[in-house]
Amino acid sequence: MDLIQFQRLFDKEPGYRLEQAKKALFHDLIQNWQTAKTLPLSLREELNKKWPIEIPAKTFISKDRNTTKALLTLKDDLKIETVLMRHKPRSRASSLQGRDKRNTICVSSQVGCPLNCSFCATGKMGFERNLEVWEIVEQVLFFARYLKKIKEKVTNIVFMGMGEPFLNYQNVLGAIRILNDKEGFNLGARHFSISTVGIVEGIEKLAKEKLQINLAISLHAPNDELRSKLMPINKKYPIKKILNAVDDYIKKTRRRVMFEYIMIKNVNDSEEHAKTLVRLMKKPLYFVNLISYNFTGIFKSSPASRIKKFKEILEKEGVTVTQRYRFGEGIEAACGQLVAKDGRK
Ligand code: SAH
Repeated sequence: MDLIQFQRLFDKEPGYRLEQAKKALFHDLIQNWQTAKTLPLSLREELNKKWPIEIPAKTFISKDRNTTKALLTLKDDLKIETVLMRHKPRSRASSLQGRDKRNTICVSSQVGCPLNCSFCATGKMGFERNLEVWEIVEQVLFFARYLKKIKEKVTNIVFMGMGEPFLNYQNVLGAIRILNDKEGFNLGARHFSISTVGIVEGIEKLAKEKLQINLAISLHAPNDELRSKLMPINKKYPIKKILNAVDDYIKKTRRRVMFEYIMIKNVNDSEEHAKTLVRLMKKPLYFVNLISYNFTGIFKSSPASRIKKFKEILEKEGVTVTQRYRFGEGIEAACGQLVAKDGRK
């Protein structure tokens, strides 16, 4: 389903009805058309029948309350995960002014994933199907409604949940357009990020879109031999091919690109790995994001001291590095873990 199909429901209505419905759905964040008081009763009933907007989900909250994970049930009974990460304000002053309050939604783009990266829980479940445009939008609406109850808003959306967004390019971009629409959810393009294993065709297509969204590449290894072991897709899209596509993307968009690097103990975290990574990453508008590994059955996460050393080597050589802290411990927040545990997908 997409917005065109939704709009068709208003073909026989006066022009302003669609605007009223969009406002009720994306701004007032109604949970049922019955409460869209600006619409006539008969239309509300028709919409409830043809375009129901309840979102069935179970939620799980982490101990520190910064992460909430939702397990959404789709119409064919398959399940997907969406995660809300609530970032604390960096200082008391900005907290008092309500600045800096970030609520990031991590959305899924597929049910399962065909890529089978060795460290990723989603890969273990295999691939079911692509998500439809509306199933992606619903994940955001679910948490927008949730946050509204505490008078907060969604500020960022990252495609870092289950699946590979560039293997479902059209629907991912369709969802972004709906969420970016000024008359709809109205979240600025710069607040979206797509994370990919490096599907080159996707990077090339994104470079041609007139959309200022952010691109992140899951790199995780500084050489093809190791990367192919961790991520089988590297045989099709080796590092050099990906970096060429990224360079071209940067030339066209002038936007920064993030390279994600999960720190896995004794696998990709040595000084040698750091030095090899420097040679790849020392370019303008590249930056590296070091991520703590979330346990998914094999591997161990690198100790803090090792991550610190790794980071220092990159920084000393002039590579920009950021660090992603662990979110959602205790609620299986690593990609795909909750669905895997639920057992039924
Ligand atoms: N397929 C896309 C998006 C989904 S994964 C991609 O690979 O980029 C989103 C991010 O979570 C990726 O950087 C991925 O590598 C990371 N991730 C997967 N499993 C993880 C784990 N066990 N611990 C930490 N990060 C993980």
